[in-house]
Amino acid sequence: MREPTDGMSPFEAVNFFFHGAADWLGLDDQTRQVLAGTYREIRVQVPLRRDDGSVETLYGYRVQHNGARGPYKGGVRYHPSADLEEVRALASLMTWKTAIVDLPFGGAKGGVQVDAASLSLTELERLTRRYMSQVSYIVGPYRDIMAPDMNTNAQTMAWMMDAYGQREGHTLSIVTGKPVELGGSLGRDAATGRGAVIVLDQAVKDAGLAPEDLSVAIQGFGNVGSWTARLAKAEGYRVVAVSDVNGGVYDPRGLRVLDVLDHVRASGTVVGHPDTETLTNEEILELDVDVLVPAALGEVVTSANVDDVRARIVVEAANHPVTPVADANLADRGVTVLPDILVNAGGVTVSYFEWTQNIQQFSWDEDRVNAALREHLVTAYQRVRDFARTHETTLRQAAFTLAVERVATAAHLRGYV
Ligand code: GLU
Repeated sequence: MREPTDGMSPFEAVNFFFHGAADWLGLDDQTRQVLAGTYREIRVQVPLRRDDGSVETLYGYRVQHNGARGPYKGGVRYHPSADLEEVRALASLMTWKTAIVDLPFGGAKGGVQVDAASLSLTELERLTRRYMSQVSYIVGPYRDIMAPDMNTNAQTMAWMMDAYGQREGHTLSIVTGKPVELGGSLGRDAATGRGAVIVLDQAVKDAGLAPEDLSVAIQGFGNVGSWTARLAKAEGYRVVAVSDVNGGVYDPRGLRVLDVLDHVRASGTVVGHPDTETLTNEEILELDVDVLVPAALGEVVTSANVDDVRARIVVEAANHPVTPVADANLADRGVTVLPDILVNAGGVTVSYFEWTQNIQQFSWDEDRVNAALREHLVTAYQRVRDFARTHETTLRQAAFTLAVERVATAAHLRGYV
């Protein structure tokens, strides 16, 4: 058994889970070396002209981790912590994520190291166009397809598509998560949150529990957190706390989530929503709730706070929110951790549907998108659960093992390794 340690970089942490799966599969060293590394990494200089005329030199990345199962696929984030090591970790998670839900894609991720909140809309547009043109040599509708991630959205994708089209000709399938008016898929905006609630529902049913009896705290109220809150509430869960970068709000009787959304639209934050108690982002992780959903940054549950996590189900809507040391602690305590590569795969699943709709020049109605999303995630969940039950592993070990097996098989069949 491998022992996790504190201080692992994000990529080392993902590879810790990868090696656990590779051990279980008895994967040979050559295949291991290929799958633990990345295929291509680029770092590009992105000079940004600010509105005041000054120029700031930013850096952006695109990491293509593994393409054995299809074109590289993954989002682009704008965040101060988006350095090469973090982007590598996120790219590798995309390889395992697309494999576990059986999408014909490989894994990639991009990032620009910048505080997006400090930029105006016109600065964001210039940054996005410049980044896309700097990396355009390695992307393409059958090479590498980008999508939104932290601090990027449908508008960002519209600019990216436009910038790529100026060079290569109009190409809808170069990015997913576009505005619906520009070839985006119905249901894509809600897809990651919808997927998280679908996976949670399956686990809740398996545990013989009912949504109405469960309280939920959600850290993060961006695209993923806010959709998870809305859809969880609609399924009958009592959503008692949500937070954003400014802090959180708590009401043990259950929040009126749509009112919280209105409050955010009006004031820019959840904090200050009437009749709620204010919390910090640390406190929300330690609330006495049944279900905890980290839906924002990575590495928020660590050896420093894991003993204070009181939830019995942790739903990883964010990417790598739980460090390996914390993960082992939760497993020892019998806490069910629903792993990121399954829980947040709904976004890339509907991205796949968007890509296929674009290629066929056809569009699906929202019911079709949501039904196909459910089918993909329930099938993946059941495979993971059955593996975990049969082999007495955690759901994470099960998910990684099934994903690594699929990627290794594809790499072998292609003669790549
Ligand atoms: N950024 C999302 C993720 O981490 C979606 C990626 C995509 O749709 O390609 O899964």
